[in-house]
Amino acid sequence: MRAVELIAAKRDGAELSEAQIAWFISSYVRGEIAHEQMSAMLMAVCWRGMTPKECAAWTQAYVTSGVRLSFRDGCTTKPIVDKHSTGGVGDKITLVLTPLVVALGGAVPQLSGRGLGHTGGTLDKLEAIAGFRSVLSVDEMRAQVHGVGGFIAAASAELAPADRMIYALRDVTATVESIPLIAASIMSKKIAEGTEGLVLDVKVGAGAFMKTRETAEELGRAMIDLGEVAGVQTRVVLSSMDAPLGRSAGNAVEVLEALEVLQGGGPRDVRDLTIALAAEMLEVAGLDADDVGEALRDGRAMDAFVELVAAQGGDVRRIRDDARVVEQVRAQRSGVVAAIDAMRVGVAAWRLGAGRARMEDDVDFGAGVLWRHGIGDHVRAGEVLFELRTNDETLVEGAVGELEAAVTLVEHEVEPGPLVLDVLR
Ligand code: URA
Repeated sequence: MRAVELIAAKRDGAELSEAQIAWFISSYVRGEIAHEQMSAMLMAVCWRGMTPKECAAWTQAYVTSGVRLSFRDGCTTKPIVDKHSTGGVGDKITLVLTPLVVALGGAVPQLSGRGLGHTGGTLDKLEAIAGFRSVLSVDEMRAQVHGVGGFIAAASAELAPADRMIYALRDVTATVESIPLIAASIMSKKIAEGTEGLVLDVKVGAGAFMKTRETAEELGRAMIDLGEVAGVQTRVVLSSMDAPLGRSAGNAVEVLEALEVLQGGGPRDVRDLTIALAAEMLEVAGLDADDVGEALRDGRAMDAFVELVAAQGGDVRRIRDDARVVEQVRAQRSGVVAAIDAMRVGVAAWRLGAGRARMEDDVDFGAGVLWRHGIGDHVRAGEVLFELRTNDETLVEGAVGELEAAVTLVEHEVEPGPLVLDVLR
């Protein structure tokens, strides 16, 4: 096979065979196909798309480029189920959902990422808990699934390494925004992780990757198909990301909010979405989903969280939430909150130091943004809209600019829209 011929075939709209895709990707991983040829192929895929067969072959090639974990063989007899979110602002759901499903009898091998740009990363949030270790060996992951029922850890470099290499290239060649490429990228990592059931929270809206319901559904359907081919029972929850989730975006501030939800309180949207996702995960796993809200209220989920964090070296009583600088943004006039721009809130938290511009940067665990109001709330002129927290005062000005523009106040009543838009099976 010749790389240039396969690129030309894809450019002209032909369907590539499983063997051609497997060869192209494995040759790239071995360094036998040049970056510029893979870049050209990715751009051709962006323009031409992929058929379901091509997308399944692309995903399989990612999976077979690395190891595939297994939590069977003496590790656990519980149903293995996981969740993935396409990323949103203020999304601390994993911190509550993983222990909740563990408390209700699931085994949850949760591989998460770090934040880059305006959406935060679950691991950065968890590392705001003193002592928490995000990097576990495969033996440690298996031991923790066996003993505790789950973990939340970084994906090892041996899982789907082809995706890692190609994602880096997509990032600099304007080829991230391709639904089959996104579907293959997400699903390959989940298939390689060894889960048997999967619930995907696909965010829709201004603060999300997928800006419209149609594109979110297309991505969701593509991932359900890939799950079926790989034997991973997959469901998709489409959830709104027009406004940020909860009342905080950052690291320590989101852990503190997750702890409130684990105590049966916290913001209603975080609680409702967690319960909706948990019910889907439990159903996929064949477990009873009647008890979800109760397990949050009666402390079972909290106990599972404390145990999971402790097994990874963390102490939930010690949250690294120091912020030397605390600023406020106040309402310029009275009105009803009609919109909170999730993207601007995410960018403000990032500017305050909660996120990173390059993967090798450190994050400020204490940095973040808190807001006091949700959609439909009445606000009086001079009331505090946002609290900004950081350890670097030079970062405040840029964040204030974002937040001043983030809230839309109107003069009529506003009903918040639904959070869960649909469930695809
Ligand atoms: N997240 C992923 O893991 N891969 C993509 O391609 C896009 C978002």
